[in-house]
Amino acid sequence: MQVEQAYAKLSSVMGKSRVKRNEPMMRHTSFKIGGPADLLTCPETREQLLYCYRTGRAYDLPVFLMGNGSNLLVGDLGIRGMVLKTAGGYEDMTVEGERVRVQSGMLLSRLTNAALKHGLTGMEFACGIPGSVGGAVVMNAGAYGGQMADVVETVTAYDPQTDTVRTFDADELDYGYRHSIFRDNDMIVLEATLRLIRGSAAQSRETMKDLNCRRREKQPLNMPSAGSVFKRPEGYYAGTLIQESGCKGMRAGDAMVSEKHAGFIVNAGKATARDVLDLIEQVRQTVHEKAGVWLEPEIHIVGEMPDKN
Ligand code: FAD
Repeated sequence: MQVEQAYAKLSSVMGKSRVKRNEPMMRHTSFKIGGPADLLTCPETREQLLYCYRTGRAYDLPVFLMGNGSNLLVGDLGIRGMVLKTAGGYEDMTVEGERVRVQSGMLLSRLTNAALKHGLTGMEFACGIPGSVGGAVVMNAGAYGGQMADVVETVTAYDPQTDTVRTFDADELDYGYRHSIFRDNDMIVLEATLRLIRGSAAQSRETMKDLNCRRREKQPLNMPSAGSVFKRPEGYYAGTLIQESGCKGMRAGDAMVSEKHAGFIVNAGKATARDVLDLIEQVRQTVHEKAGVWLEPEIHIVGEMPDKN
């Protein structure tokens, strides 16, 4: 790994504001947890994004792609190599009729507002999901009866194996519950075309207001978290199982099972990734003992952890 050389080259081409050395990942995750990334780059165009990726690989750095960091638990020792972050830069959007073509770093909150301004409906379900379009396309993010699979028409992605860019139709994406083909490969989602419906902006605004209200009532939005920690086990709701197993308020260090929504683990102060992992394990054991179900994490756990003492 030649981090210094990659840093020198990238910062001379992209400028120091878009390339950071030893960048604390706690600044880039909704959990506010995570040690330093050796290098973090924030491209603004497809050319820059591919340039960052190829330069990273040319200097032998592993490259981790992130959107807005709202579904990530980053290790306390950080991430070796390069983090390529799409949110906060790579976020152009064009609207043609009922089609919206959008780059993967665009935040869903901004996208839903922009759709509303164009009188396009169908994205309301996503207004309170704090992720990027790329993260949402990969995860098939969804809420309140809607999901990305309902609106995605095509996805354009970069395949590092063949160094080519390819466009996929929706029916090639193998969409399922929080699943797409991009969860099983190392492709980078560059852009998506979404097919929306012309409708009433006033009604759309009302729906979004109502959904955000319901979210504020049910979810601990005033505390750092990564949303629901566990996948929904078949036939159950993870939050209900956790609550019924008596885990609300359970803690490991400053990581705590939310009192408001048992499916969330919150950072109640200075939680470390190790605290969160320990709490995940306590919750899994307890739910298994009480309900006979093994929960599996939905959040993505990346980077290096210190050894357990
Ligand atoms: P990140 O967290 O940055 O990354 C997640 C994964 O996607 C990583 O593996 C990353 O490598 C990969 N990835 C990201 N961008 C790309 C790309 N361009 N190409 C290839 N891979 C990529 N989720 C829901 O589905 N529904 C909800 O209602 C919901 N509510 C939430 C509420 C709160 C308060 C929080 C904190 C989270 C919530 N989430 C919810 C989880 C999260 O917001 C979604 O999973 C979101 O889609 C993640 O997007 P992101 O850009 O933050 O992805």
